[in-house]
Amino acid sequence: MELMHLAGQSWCIPGRVNVGVYRKGETVWIVDSGLDDEAGRKIARWIEGEKLTLRRIVTTHSNADHCGGNAFLRKRTGCSVAATRLEAAVIEHPFLEPLLLWSARPFGEITNKFLQSKPSEVDQIIENTGPFDESELEALPLPGHFIDMIGVRTPDGVLFTADALFSEELIDKYSMMFVLDVEAALSTLGFLEKTEAKWFVPSHARPTEDIRPLAEVNRAALLRVSELVLERCGEPATREEILKTLSDRFGLSMSVTEYVLNNAVVGGHLTWLRERGLVFPVVSEGRLLWKKSP
Ligand SMILES: [Zn+2]
Repeated sequence: MELMHLAGQSWCIPGRVNVGVYRKGETVWIVDSGLDDEAGRKIARWIEGEKLTLRRIVTTHSNADHCGGNAFLRKRTGCSVAATRLEAAVIEHPFLEPLLLWSARPFGEITNKFLQSKPSEVDQIIENTGPFDESELEALPLPGHFIDMIGVRTPDGVLFTADALFSEELIDKYSMMFVLDVEAALSTLGFLEKTEAKWFVPSHARPTEDIRPLAEVNRAALLRVSELVLERCGEPATREEILKTLSDRFGLSMSVTEYVLNNAVVGGHLTWLRERGLVFPVVSEGRLLWKKSP
């Protein structure tokens, strides 16, 4: 396993999900744990090979690709797991994620490991801001993408930014990036642009010393989706019809999992447009239609 040194005692394990590493002597903290047991096993092998002790996994949020290695690592090493209260609820009861996306008991196609990780205990509930233990790591609130997601800053000035922003390649490929609260996501981008750090490490993009260009790409991607949703509401449309229009426009071919994720994204954008008075909902002949305000 290749570690990328960033600054001082701060590293990152690059991968589909970048895992943060902070060392204090022989003790290690990691930020997120990857998708599954296999990801956890790789981290455990490295820690054991280096004769280090895993003190704690700081979980930025409860999406399966960020906490999927927790159960394995906790069992193998006895490490502690920290997360905010709301994210901890989903980490401990992971059926809540597909439940949230489907708004009812989820069916088999959306209870896969990408949407529902193995349950694992969170023994330390932390606030979304400030230091939380002897490591001097610091939590920063990064709302928007999920329920109460945090970033983690190390004393070396390395800031792990979780899913507050995504790489340009992923945005080109998927066009619709997961977001529950568009307004919060936009202000999180503004917050990151103003935040000082030696390195910014998004979970799904290369570490960078200047986050501003990537923040701008992410802002443009969010606003483009909002504009298309608003434009589609020129003709009254259901949430699913709006998603079809966006899917056609972006040339997406979605799996069932991607469909429920993107359906949530459309919901997030509709709420943002509704709060600004740009669209409104009306039930007509058994359908919830969204209309552009006159
Ligand atoms: Zn992620």
